[in-house]
Amino acid sequence: MKSDWDVIIAGGGPAGVFAAIRCADAARNPNLRVLLIEKASQTLGKVLISGGRRCNVTHACFEPAQLVTYYPRGGMELRGAFSRFQPKDTVEWFDARGVKLKTESDGRMFPVTDDANTIAECLRESAREAGVRVEVRTSLLGVEKRLADGFRLEVQHEAKRFIIHTKKLLIATGSDRKTLETIQSLGHTIIEPVPSLFTFNVKDKRIHDLAGVSVENVTLNMGAISTRGALLITHWGLSGPAVLRLSAWGARELFEKKYRAKLIVNWLDDYSFDKVLEILGRNKDWKENSRKKISTNPAFSQIPVRLWKQLVHFIGEKNWGDVSKAELRKLASELTAGEFEIQGKGQFKEEFVTCGGVSLKEVDFKTMQSRLVDGLHFAGEVLDIDGITGGFNFQSSWTTGWIAGNALAE
Ligand SMILES: Cc1cc2nc3c(=O)[nH]c(=O)nc-3n(C[C@H](O)[C@H](O)[C@H](O)COP(=O)(O)OP(=O)(O)OC[C@H]3O[C@@H](n4cnc5c(N)ncnc54)[C@H](O)[C@@H]3O)c2cc1C
Repeated sequence: MKSDWDVIIAGGGPAGVFAAIRCADAARNPNLRVLLIEKASQTLGKVLISGGRRCNVTHACFEPAQLVTYYPRGGMELRGAFSRFQPKDTVEWFDARGVKLKTESDGRMFPVTDDANTIAECLRESAREAGVRVEVRTSLLGVEKRLADGFRLEVQHEAKRFIIHTKKLLIATGSDRKTLETIQSLGHTIIEPVPSLFTFNVKDKRIHDLAGVSVENVTLNMGAISTRGALLITHWGLSGPAVLRLSAWGARELFEKKYRAKLIVNWLDDYSFDKVLEILGRNKDWKENSRKKISTNPAFSQIPVRLWKQLVHFIGEKNWGDVSKAELRKLASELTAGEFEIQGKGQFKEEFVTCGGVSLKEVDFKTMQSRLVDGLHFAGEVLDIDGITGGFNFQSSWTTGWIAGNALAE
């Protein structure tokens, strides 16, 4: 490996590889020397396992102002960045290289092959074609800023340590803790990394033995945070889009509370207490219903019978006609504001990200350059940016990688 480079990119994830390709492609100087170092034995490890190995590349949301609302952290800073490179550009970028993406009904976009290898191979091939030198099993250990001529890097390749120099450096090492310490040693503020996108552990008799049961539209509230969407009951508690969204927006608060908090569930989307009470009253007054058991005759088709049975358990085996007004009020409250205790954090294996990282105040989003250290750039999850599930996390890597690549090419 040569010891002098124009550009070194540390981290061969989507952000680093995308930046490397863009940098090499956009360089006016055809002899620009671009090196990408990756500590694992191959690049794009997370891409290969992403989206259930199908790779949810991006989201079919082409309006930057709306797109930013899917980022619990970084939305404001990404607003301008998305006007330069957004999901439409991602689709076109892959299309130009022969990779077609398709959109699922919920807006998530995948390669038509449904195979993450298609994305990884396209990126690797594009890097080869652009002339990016890739060194795997090579870790960045330390960085020293040289006043006159860029950076002096300490690097380890397999068991060997050595020093290399570069004029410009992009750090795209994801949530790697050691590298965050290195970045801190250069004067940057690191917002403590904590997990985002996880399921909730909830032990409660109302959802006991109901693993696999789902409700299409619920509203969840945790303090001031509110999310809507589908909810899935699991062996350990609650999952599904509404829960994952809440875990992302409440990531830091939940971390601080050691993953113990009160969760309020409206099983009927945004139905109010009064509206539900009225519907329950009508069910009680309905003659045909009066001799039917409340436990096996739900008043709402949205709620699966097995779940309904457990939610009305406190009423016992009464018929609709025999239920008291007080019981109906209690049931309306149970259905629109059921209280549950989050007792811990599960894992969402399909997608898992970290919030926290390099403080965004210290980065110029027009170039992804550090405001503190000239020639130092950042892209991807190393920054304090994270999105909800749905392809938004890769999109922020493509966007920040693209912008950094352009700046590194200059
Ligand atoms: C199981 C799983 C599934 C996911 N599915 C999706 C999905 O479908 N859609 C979506 O949008 N998001 C998904 N995500 C999130 C997405 O993978 C991340 O947001 C994205 O990979 C971040 O890209 P990155 O390049 O910034 O970091 P990473 O992908 O983490 O890449 C960083 C790279 O840097 C390397 N590295 C670390 N330290 C060093 C060092 N010191 N020297 C050299 N190299 C180093 C690492 O080995 C790694 O290869 C998923 C995440 C997981 C864990």
